[in-house]
Amino acid sequence: MANETMKIPQATAKRLPLYYRFLSNLHSSGKQRVSSAELSEAVKVDSATIRRDFSYFGALGKKGYGYNVNYLLSFFRKTLDQDELTKVALIGVGNLGTALLNYNFSKSNNTKIEVAFDVEESKIGTQVGDVKIHHMDDLEKVVRDEDIQVAILTIPSGAAQTITDRLVSANIKGILNFTPARLTVPPAIRIHHIDLAVELQSLIYFLKHYPISEEE
Ligand code: ATP
Repeated sequence: MANETMKIPQATAKRLPLYYRFLSNLHSSGKQRVSSAELSEAVKVDSATIRRDFSYFGALGKKGYGYNVNYLLSFFRKTLDQDELTKVALIGVGNLGTALLNYNFSKSNNTKIEVAFDVEESKIGTQVGDVKIHHMDDLEKVVRDEDIQVAILTIPSGAAQTITDRLVSANIKGILNFTPARLTVPPAIRIHHIDLAVELQSLIYFLKHYPISEEE
């Protein structure tokens, strides 16, 4: 499976969770097959791209039939490691951190925030949902003991690099960075940045400067 995953282009891999969520919903509603046009409308990816993406998965849609929902779902589950729980830690239980803990992710897939960390004494030992908040002093120990692989950073940006260095030394594999800080990590660690302020500004810029014409 790992080898099959390697062959999928990164742009395609990024769309997998999108396809996965939509197909799970279709499956729950009892649908057996789906056309690329239906998928395209639902996930807002053009149907030529969908057909090319799906051809990497060995899923060849038939004219007038479409794609088999069950086949695609089981493929995605394996590819996205949905059958294996990836343990996630959240660092910084402020406003955004609390929102993410309340949201938790297990509703849509097999990813779950297992533990949280903060420095604020009043928060240590309390829980948000079923997630316990630990002291930062225990970071390395808990991350190792619980075999946490991914960390979400919702701390002030000034603290981000120091905490990242500690996470790297505790063998974390990936970081989802919600702070505006640009982080330095060894090449083997994967970092994805989500800067909500930049995303919002960028959307507004595009609305103003690149309005979507009716024909597109
Ligand atoms: P709040 O309203 O709770 O202060 P916020 O999101 O507005 O939240 P931030 O200053 O961004 O506030 O801090 C987010 C969280 O990160 C807070 O709960 C804070 O206690 C925590 N925090 C700050 N510094 C660290 C650190 N070095 N390590 C871990 N957590 C930290």
